[in-house]
Amino acid sequence: MTKLPGSKNMEVSGLSSTIQDYLSLIYVMERDDEPVVGSRLAELLGVTPPTVANTLKRMTRDGLITMDKNGTHLTESGWEAARVVMRRHMLMEWMMLKTLPWSKLHGEAHQLEHAISSMTESALMEQLGHPQTCPHGNPLPGCEEAVAAWIPLPKIPAGETITIRRIHELAEENAPLLEFLERHGIMPGASARVTEILPFNQTITLEVKGRPVALGNVAARYIFVERGA
Ligand SMILES: [Zn+2]
Ligand SMILES: [Zn+2]
Repeated sequence: MTKLPGSKNMEVSGLSSTIQDYLSLIYVMERDDEPVVGSRLAELLGVTPPTVANTLKRMTRDGLITMDKNGTHLTESGWEAARVVMRRHMLMEWMMLKTLPWSKLHGEAHQLEHAISSMTESALMEQLGHPQTCPHGNPLPGCEEAVAAWIPLPKIPAGETITIRRIHELAEENAPLLEFLERHGIMPGASARVTEILPFNQTITLEVKGRPVALGNVAARYIFVERGA
């Protein structure tokens, strides 16, 4: 049984990498007020619903989550552990930025984040200049304000010029989507223009670096932007 102290620098290394992965996904869902549903977790993690059910049971036993008629929620220890996991993951992404293509950062950081100690975490945080977001524009725990003003792409009318700011965490889980976005230059900091919105086709077309890129509504919902170039 894993008992977590409530301290800020808690060691999450006692948790298996599977549990850490669940913690970060549940963290994102709870932060965004999305219900934590087993089938959605199964889909995102690429495992079966019974596997998810078993793991959630284990996490309940270990005091990381509660599951009752009010749904599935992180406990205080769960939140604390999830924040540590998320922060380490995002710092690893920054650390690999000069070494790997942008679309590969998430997957690689995912392999490495579990091995970081709190000493390395503090040193990296210092060296990287206390970033508020990851290289995909997602907020480090406690920095949610930094991204609050960014608008989901489907809310922008045709004709407007925008700056891409954020590709949501749940889209980071989708490697082919990230590769597509990178190939077309749809990354934080890039400017673009919304050229066409086709509701019957469920597409939004952007012009990026003079070239048209059609996005489906599902992908577009994960992209957050700022008005203006
Ligand atoms: Zn990531
Ligand atoms: Zn990221």
